Amino acid sequence: MAEVLQDQYRVLFEQSSDAMLIIDDGQFVDCNNATLDMLGYVSRSELFSTHPSQLSPPFQSDGMPSFDKANMMISLAMDNGSHRFEWVHRKIDGTDFPVEVLLTKIPADDRVLLHVVWRDISARKKAEEKLRLSTYVMESTSEGIVVTDMDLNIIEVNPAYCELLGYTRDEVLGRNAGFAKSGRHDAAFYEAIWDSLGTRGKWQGEIWDRRKNGEVFPIHLRLNTVYDESGKPCFYTGLFSDISHRKKTEAQLEELAFYDPLTKLPNRALFHQRLRQALKNCRRLKSNLALLFIDLDRFKSLNDSLGHTSGDMMLVAVGERIKNVVRSMDTVARMGGDEFTVIISDLTNEHAAGEVAAKILKSVIQPVWIGAHEIIPHMSIGISLYPKDGENLEDLTRYADMAMYHAKNEGGDHFHFFRDTMNKESQKRLTLENEMNSGLCHAQFVPYYQPIVDLQSGKIVGVEALARWHHPDRGLIMPDDFIPLAEESGQIVTLGHQILHQACLQVKQWMDQYAQKFTLAVNLSGRQFNSNELVKDIQTSLTETGFPHSNLTLEITESMMMGHVDRVRNQLNQLHETGINLAIDDFGTGYSSLSYLQRFPLNSLKIDRSFVNDLESDRNNQAIVKAIISMAIAMELDVVAEGVESSEQAWYLKQLDCKKVQGYFYSKPLPAEQFKELLTKTIS
Ligand code: C2E
Ligand code: CA
Ligand code: CA
Repeated sequence: MAEVLQDQYRVLFEQSSDAMLIIDDGQFVDCNNATLDMLGYVSRSELFSTHPSQLSPPFQSDGMPSFDKANMMISLAMDNGSHRFEWVHRKIDGTDFPVEVLLTKIPADDRVLLHVVWRDISARKKAEEKLRLSTYVMESTSEGIVVTDMDLNIIEVNPAYCELLGYTRDEVLGRNAGFAKSGRHDAAFYEAIWDSLGTRGKWQGEIWDRRKNGEVFPIHLRLNTVYDESGKPCFYTGLFSDISHRKKTEAQLEELAFYDPLTKLPNRALFHQRLRQALKNCRRLKSNLALLFIDLDRFKSLNDSLGHTSGDMMLVAVGERIKNVVRSMDTVARMGGDEFTVIISDLTNEHAAGEVAAKILKSVIQPVWIGAHEIIPHMSIGISLYPKDGENLEDLTRYADMAMYHAKNEGGDHFHFFRDTMNKESQKRLTLENEMNSGLCHAQFVPYYQPIVDLQSGKIVGVEALARWHHPDRGLIMPDDFIPLAEESGQIVTLGHQILHQACLQVKQWMDQYAQKFTLAVNLSGRQFNSNELVKDIQTSLTETGFPHSNLTLEITESMMMGHVDRVRNQLNQLHETGINLAIDDFGTGYSSLSYLQRFPLNSLKIDRSFVNDLESDRNNQAIVKAIISMAIAMELDVVAEGVESSEQAWYLKQLDCKKVQGYFYSKPLPAEQFKELLTKTIS
C-alpha cells in the first residue's frame, strides 16, 4: 500500500483526526488509524479490498442500495474531480452512523486513485432533528409561544400566539412583550412576576391581555428563563393558553354554587359570605346592620293543595317583591324551602329596620295569581341587629330566627325584633330538654296517684296516674312545667310509655293485694299518636304487667281528635277493640262537637274542673254541668267530674246525677306509698 502515497502525504494521512482512505478501482486499498477507530476495526488489512457498500447498511437513507449509490458517487467524483455527499456507514458492532464524505481524485502514475475523507456528523444530525421537532411543536401547538431577549424584546413567536392576539408575526417581532397589556393589573402585579422570574426563574398564573381588536381576555401564562451553557440567563419564553372558555364555565359553576336556581337569588352559601363581609365592613366603619329572617306561613298547605309548581311560582313572586322593596346594596337570599333572609347594611337606626320589615310585609301580602287561583302570601319576619344583639354571624342568624318564631306565634303577618329574653328562654328550654333526657334514662319520672271516687258509696273505684319529675337538684317538678316541652321535643312518647308501664305494674299489685278492681286512668298526648308504635307499646305494657285491658282508661282531649281524624280514630279503634276504655278529658273546654264525639269509640267524659269550680254559686256552670251529664247519659257514657274541692261541690254533683268524682276534696295526687295508706284506710 505504502507505494501509492508519497512520503509527505503519508504523514498527513496518518496523523489526520478525520478518517481517511484511498479507493483504487472501486475498492479501499488504504486507510488511517482514525478510520479504524471510527469503525471499530483493529487492523487495516481487514478493510483492504472492500467495496464501500460492505462497510455500510444495505440501503442508504434515501432508499438506494448502498452498492449502486457508492458506484454512482465514485463516478461523479471521477468526472468532476471531487464530490461531497452524506453517507451512512456501519460499524463492526452493527451500529450505523452518518458521515459526510469528500472524494477527491488523485492522479497516480498509471491510474487514478480517490482520496476519501469521512467526517462523523452524528451530533449535527441530532441537532437538526431536534430543531425540526421543536419547530414542529412550535408551529402545531395550540398554545401561544413567545421568546424574548433579556430586555423583553420579542424574537420569536408561533402561529398560535399570533392567532390568540390577532397580530401577524411581523407585527410583533421586535416589539416589547408588554405591548398587549390589558391595563387590568397594577404595577405591583407585574413587579411580582419580575420578582419570581428573577429569583426562581419562572412564573405562572392568570393574566388579562388585550387583543389587536381591543378585546380583553383571560389567559393562563407560564414564563420561564432560558439559561446558556454557562448558566447565564439568555432568553425568556412565554406559554399562553386562552382560558376564556374555562372562565365561562367557572362563572356558570359559581352561579350554580351560589344562587338559587328557582328565584335566582343568592343561596345560603352566598348569604353567609355576604353577611361575613358586611360584618367586617361594619366593624371597620363602626356602622350598624340588620338581619331579617322571613318565613312564609302556611306555605306547606299551599304546596299540598295546589302542587309544587304553584308553590314555586309563589316563591318566585315573593322573592321578587322582597327584592323590589330593599335597596340594591342589600342582599336578599333564599335559604331554602320557604325561608328568605335580608341583610340591611349601613343602618341608620333600629327604627329603619322595622320600617323595611313593615314595607316588605305590605308589599308581599298582596294577592298573587297562580293559575286560576288568587292567593295571598303570609309571612313572619324576625329581626336581629348588629352590634346590639350579637356580633357574629352565628348569633345574629340564630337570634333573627328566634324572633321570627315569636312573630309566627303571634299569628303571622308580623315582624318581631329579637329580645334578650328570647335567648334565655330558648337556652332554658334546651337545658330542660337535656335534663329531661337524662331524667328519662334515670327513672326520674314517676306517676302520682289521685283517687276517683264513687259519689254514692264514697269508695275509691279508680285512680288517675299523673306524671311527676323528681329532679335531682330542683326537687319535685309538676307536669305543666315539662309536659308542653316534652310534647314539642317528642320526648312525650317515652315519658308516656314509662308512666303507663309503672302505673299498670303498681295498680295491678294493689288490685291483687286488696282483691279489688280499680280503673286506671292514664293521660295520652296527641303527639303519641304520631308514633306508629302507640298501639303496640300499650299492649306490650299490659301484657308485661298482666294488667287487664278493661280496667284501663286512656284520657285524650277533644283537640287531639280534631287533628288527623282518620289516623287517630284508627288507632283508638284498635285500642278499643282490645277492651281498653277511652275518656275525653277536660270536657267542655274544646269544641264539644257532638258529631265528633259520635265518630269515636268513647266510654266516658271528664267534666273540666273550671265548670266544677264555682258550682255551688255559679248558675251558669250548674246549667252546663247539668247539660253535659244528661247528654252523657243519653249517649251511654260514664261521667267523672274533676277538680272537686268542697263538700258543697260534691253535693251539687250528686244532685245532678254525676256518678264519679275526683279532686282535692278527696285527695291530692299522691306518691305510691301514701296512696297505698289511703287505700288501706278506706278499704278496711
Ligand atoms: P289533667 O289530665 O286534667 O289532670 C288533672 C289535673 O288537675 C292534675 O294536675 C291534678 O293534680 C289537678 N287536680 C286534681 N284535682 C284537683 C282539684 O281539686 N283542684 C285543682 N285545682 N286541681 C286538681 P297535674 O297533675 O298538675 O297535671 C296537669 C296536667 O298535665 C294534666 O291535666 C295532664 O293534662 C298533664 N299530665 C299529667 N301527667 C301526664 C302524663 O303522664 N301524660 C300526659 N300526656 N299528660 C299528663
Ligand atoms: Ca287527665
Ligand atoms: Ca282534666
